[in-house]
Amino acid sequence: MPMHFKDRDVVSPLSGLNSALIVPCYMCPAVTVAVREGRPFLQGFRSLLKSLPFDDYLKDLQAGLAKDGITSKIFGAGFYHQWFMCMWTWRRRKKLAREAAKFDAVIVLGCGSATETVLEATKETDCKVVEGMEFTGIMNAKMTFRLPCNVVFDDCSVCTAAPIFGPEGALLKSHGHTPGNRREKSASAS
Ligand code: SF4
Repeated sequence: MPMHFKDRDVVSPLSGLNSALIVPCYMCPAVTVAVREGRPFLQGFRSLLKSLPFDDYLKDLQAGLAKDGITSKIFGAGFYHQWFMCMWTWRRRKKLAREAAKFDAVIVLGCGSATETVLEATKETDCKVVEGMEFTGIMNAKMTFRLPCNVVFDDCSVCTAAPIFGPEGALLKSHGHTPGNRREKSASAS
């Protein structure tokens, strides 16, 4: 399941800079925003190749940057295989390197692996790399298809990345943010 994030302040780290290329991972961050806003992740006929909640989020981010005098551009993605920054091809990384060289900074929206992709691709540039999202856990949700052609993530909870049970089978820590889930109940009952 996708990772879950919270937003970070990107304006302060960009103080004194004029331009930023926003490089979003279009998978986990997009699911995070859709879940947060209770909207479909994909709406088939309206948005086959993009998540509308995330599209709105990116527009708001750009508007916020513009208020602080920072011009920005979104590094877009086309087909689904370009959504996952942890698995980008070398060709896409080269494309990012060329584009990033035109900006003062790159804002990464994604996990540490997404940042790693950007750091590696921009190592020959003077770009400052800023992380715009912070990992908070891994989502557990029911992926649902709804008519007419929507993809929705229902009943989402956020789990830790650490093991839930120790070697002896003892519960190590709370599993997710959903209280009283089945595994917790069965573990505490034993
Ligand atoms: S780069 Fe990170 S945020 Fe993006 S799909 Fe891979 S794991 Fe998810």
